[in-house]
Amino acid sequence: MTLRKILKDKKRIVIKVGTSSLTHPETGQIDFIKMEKLVRELADLNNRGKEVILVSSGAIAVGRKAIGMKERPSGLAVKQACASIGQARLMMIYQKLFMEYNQTASQILMTKNTLVNEVNRENARNTFETLLTMGAIPIVNENDTVSTYEIQFGDNDTLSAVVSALVQADLLILLSDIDGLFTDDPNRNPDAKFIEYVDRVDERFEKMAKGSSSDVGTGGMSTKLGAARLATSAGADMIIANGSDMGIIHRIMDGERIGTMFRANRIENFYLIDYLDAPAPEHGSGRKEVYG
Ligand code: GLU
Repeated sequence: MTLRKILKDKKRIVIKVGTSSLTHPETGQIDFIKMEKLVRELADLNNRGKEVILVSSGAIAVGRKAIGMKERPSGLAVKQACASIGQARLMMIYQKLFMEYNQTASQILMTKNTLVNEVNRENARNTFETLLTMGAIPIVNENDTVSTYEIQFGDNDTLSAVVSALVQADLLILLSDIDGLFTDDPNRNPDAKFIEYVDRVDERFEKMAKGSSSDVGTGGMSTKLGAARLATSAGADMIIANGSDMGIIHRIMDGERIGTMFRANRIENFYLIDYLDAPAPEHGSGRKEVYG
């Protein structure tokens, strides 16, 4: 499909990696080989002249392993504490690896409030723009240390789509433990068919979405389709692909037919807040916020 060929010309690219793509399934510990390869791929994209933003999960998982906690934390304060420990560790590793490739990595932590509050949103956007102008690679996560139910995105699929909309990205790549979109859950239904291309995210696809089998990440297929709707409406193409081999990033950029591609369907008067399931903006009506 010639559509895949356009991917190599995308300039501003957001890449999201889930916890399951950064950790060993057997132990939940960090998979350094995968992280190294991810960083090498992103450094190379940057060297190709692309603007690269990484949305990385893993704060809570890395934090709980750091203190030897066996189960996934359920209490809010414990989750927040794990995130606080884990995010710092995660960034330490990213910094070290990006430095090896002579890249400048930075950190941006957000909650839904960052978007709902107009001043915060503008500041966040300016920070992204400035970092990208500097050639830095922003590494984004939810600010899990302070986010509670009301203000959290809850999953990084949504967060990465939000970031794509905020910075008007050209392409969003979601890497997780599934190959892409199927007509049914392939773990339960052997007849499930792979869908290579989605022209428009409509109800048909949403009905198909079933939870992914991942037990360490948070985003199932419905969440991913929600992210696809947000990102494509904001004007980005999106790919869902399997992050088991991070080399998939350059293969996607080279136009190989891997993963599911969702075509951008930029809607007029796109208004990010409409997609956030969030309270009304705190400053004014906010409806003047139109991207692009
Ligand atoms: N923000 C969470 C973390 O870093 C991950 C959310 C997700 O996996 O979608 O632990």
